[in-house]
Amino acid sequence: MGIDNIIFGVVLLAALAFFGYNLGAIIQLIRGGKPYRPAAPLGFRFRSMLRYAFGQQKMFDRPIVGLLHFFVYAGFIIINLEMLEIVIDGLTGAHRIFLSFLSPSTYSVFISIFEVLAVLVIVSCVIFLVRRNVLKIPRFHSPEMTRWPKLDANIILVTEIALMLAFLLMNASDRLLQLKGVSGYHPTGDFLVSHMLMPMLSSFSADQLVFLERFSWWGHIIGVLAFLNYIPYSKHLHIFLAFPNTYYISDKPKGYFPSIPEITAEVKYMLNPEGPEPPISEEPPLFGARDVYDLTWKNLLDAFTCTECGRCTSECPANLTGKRLSPRKIMMDTRDRLEALRFRPDAESHTLFPNYITAEEVLACNTCMACVEVCPVGINPLDIILKIRRHMVTDEGKAPSEWNLMFGNIENNGAPWQFSPDDRAQWTALV
Ligand code: SF4
Ligand code: SF4
Repeated sequence: MGIDNIIFGVVLLAALAFFGYNLGAIIQLIRGGKPYRPAAPLGFRFRSMLRYAFGQQKMFDRPIVGLLHFFVYAGFIIINLEMLEIVIDGLTGAHRIFLSFLSPSTYSVFISIFEVLAVLVIVSCVIFLVRRNVLKIPRFHSPEMTRWPKLDANIILVTEIALMLAFLLMNASDRLLQLKGVSGYHPTGDFLVSHMLMPMLSSFSADQLVFLERFSWWGHIIGVLAFLNYIPYSKHLHIFLAFPNTYYISDKPKGYFPSIPEITAEVKYMLNPEGPEPPISEEPPLFGARDVYDLTWKNLLDAFTCTECGRCTSECPANLTGKRLSPRKIMMDTRDRLEALRFRPDAESHTLFPNYITAEEVLACNTCMACVEVCPVGINPLDIILKIRRHMVTDEGKAPSEWNLMFGNIENNGAPWQFSPDDRAQWTALV
């Protein structure tokens, strides 16, 4: 073990500690939400997680994009096996430690598979970059997708390409060093993809190749650790949170709206004054949500899980007909508000409604559930919209005047219309 390994160990520990610290801070933010008790049985939860997070089922509603996304996802998971070897090598001073218990030909097959995946990741990321920046697909260019969200998506794609290229360059230079008989570079046989890069490097001296191999090795691992620590600040957090988020998905029918217990108790008492009186609380209850901590922790987990893919917005009839509402923005605003509470001391003077999400947005929703149906990671933007709308109408009494007229009719006539209940059957006289 040399100084290299000590430096590696310190960098690794620091990166893992910082990642753990950030993840802990995000978990704290999520735990600040109100209780959420999904009644879903265990089997349903596991099936949802397997189907939507592992299986990426909803991504395949758009098969080509789904396949490209699957390559990136599979590449991320499988190439992490290669990361395991890099980490053990880095800590112990070994070189390609897996060769000590795999034959060179088996090892070569494994690395060749990783290399093919690396190429598929590169191709997919290039296509995604073109779709976002050249083809100008509308859902990537809505108002909420400018500045940081746009930059974030591009940073992720470029970093993934750079990491995969470093991996291929490392293997090509390593193989050339093996062929030159440089000590410490154990023979493995050719790897499927990096083999094709070797002619480009054939004029390099042994020293230059060692530099390139070490540069790519360090570049790859430092890049991965930097990426790991970038994730908590990025929409890429979904690669971890999609699993708990789909595990806690509700098994209620899609159109289910939970009633407000205090109002249910009042209505029951109105209908049956002989029954139990509704409890009177000292503080007036809040019926909806004004700020993030009036939402449940599942709503907050949803916000951190959002991939900003925009599928919800591209299906939202309100958005498609030119209204201000974008369900993706609802999720991004909720996350922004949570992050403001963490990072900005002046954030106390703001609230989710109306500083981030406005009345115009929540009133534009027709509760069609298209956004819930289409979301690939089990997010429910409508739940947040409804809670804010409830707050606006019931807690702040700020319903639009047309709604107030309807509420008055329901209260007085038992129906949204202006007719007395006694006149309700008059239409039969016309038949
Ligand atoms: S439920 Fe509301 S936000 Fe969601 S798609 Fe329908 S109109 Fe849009
Ligand atoms: S809520 Fe779901 S569909 Fe909408 S942008 Fe986020 S991940 Fe995509």
